[in-house]
Amino acid sequence: MSEKRCCPHCGVELTSTLGPPESGWGALLVCENNDCTVFRGSNENIKYKPGDSPLGCRYAEDVEGGYKSFNMLAFRGF
Ligand SMILES: [Zn+2]
Repeated sequence: MSEKRCCPHCGVELTSTLGPPESGWGALLVCENNDCTVFRGSNENIKYKPGDSPLGCRYAEDVEGGYKSFNMLAFRGF
């Protein structure tokens, strides 16, 4: 697999990673751009979280699921 895939929201190349073992995910592609609109806007997207939560959402694609996109919960501030 050599195809480069980019985030449709910010255009940054997606980083390949592996999901946490307990999540059942395999290979994932994640947008790690802290300036991505998905990540920056995730304060409003997460309705149940407290105001100062370090969690945010990053754009991700499930490689084995046909590159289906989803929002991956991730810690902010890396
Ligand atoms: Zn992005």
